[in-house]
Amino acid sequence: TTYVPNEQRYDSMVYNRCGRSGLKLPAVSLGLWHNFGDVDTLANAKSMICRSFDLGITHFDLANNYGPSAGSAEETFGKILKSDLAAYRDEMIVSTKAGYYMWPGPYGEWGSKKNMISSLDQSLKRMGLDYVDIFYSHRPDPNTPMEETMGALDLIVRQGKALYVGISNYSAEQTKQAIQILKSLGTPLLIHQATYSMFNRWVENGLLEELEEGGAGCIAFSPLAQGVLTNRYLDGIPLDSRAASSNSPFLKEKDITEEKLNKIKQLNEIAIGRGQTLAQLALAWVLRKERVASVLIGASKVSQIEDNVGAINRLELDSTEIEQIETILR
Ligand code: NDP
Repeated sequence: TTYVPNEQRYDSMVYNRCGRSGLKLPAVSLGLWHNFGDVDTLANAKSMICRSFDLGITHFDLANNYGPSAGSAEETFGKILKSDLAAYRDEMIVSTKAGYYMWPGPYGEWGSKKNMISSLDQSLKRMGLDYVDIFYSHRPDPNTPMEETMGALDLIVRQGKALYVGISNYSAEQTKQAIQILKSLGTPLLIHQATYSMFNRWVENGLLEELEEGGAGCIAFSPLAQGVLTNRYLDGIPLDSRAASSNSPFLKEKDITEEKLNKIKQLNEIAIGRGQTLAQLALAWVLRKERVASVLIGASKVSQIEDNVGAINRLELDSTEIEQIETILR
């Protein structure tokens, strides 16, 4: 059966301007890092993407290497676009990235013009798209002049293969440099994709200020600390969770420490007091920063997306709550 989107999909989602650009992003965006590979079920991937779109999530974030296998998340997304969402391409912001290892030899990773251009061409083929809305340099390359990597982003926009450009995992200092180079080329930096959550606050140490000054927005990845800042691990480690999964080298059972659990339980009490879930509190907390246009969540099931989108029903945090949270995190 053909998917028919919810007619009310734009009625409740919040859309934030990304930096000083013309582009608005949904306060909650969906990332396809986990659970959209060829090891996962297509039906679940499709339900999650269609439900997201029904809830007003217009932004879907990918990268060349998402899977596993590497590249298969883009293929999955391409299939779903073709079968269900082709008519809505102009209502969607699709992003992808290049920079991490993708193919053997000297051109399969990092930030050379050769890698950036070839990788995006492969991504477009896998997704069946003519262009992406945002193309990112996924990580800084210490051995390529930044002028070359930024020059490749600028060229890609001029070729019509991307509308906007972004960077990810660049330090505050590297971001300042990237902003200057891109400005001189005439393709302003739209966005920085940076990890930001209650458990990882490095962006507060200069990056957000740099972005403010340069007029760029921020999209926060892993805002739930990969699921740790939810009720997922409150009563142990479920077998179907990321921490228990062998596909997840970045979150392990040993990362769910007693100290973290203790904090999560206290944060959960604050969330309950506000009439929301811990995930919703964690997302509202990241969105309290004006520079952050969107929180980039992941999900393994539709119900998690519904829970997370519910954050928009109670975003404001008063100074007492902020202080209580600071005390717990300290
Ligand atoms: P999150 O911090 O949102 O973690 C998502 C995981 O948390 C889910 O897969 C699920 O795990 C669990 N979860 C989510 N919502 C709930 C909920 N309401 N209740 C209980 N558990 C929940 O983000 P990710 O780490 O997945 O990253 C999100 C996106 O950010 C990626 O898809 C990618 O697009 C981007 N990213 C970018 C990086 C970069 O270098 N630029 C690096 C990493 C991510 P479970 O499997 O246990 O159900």
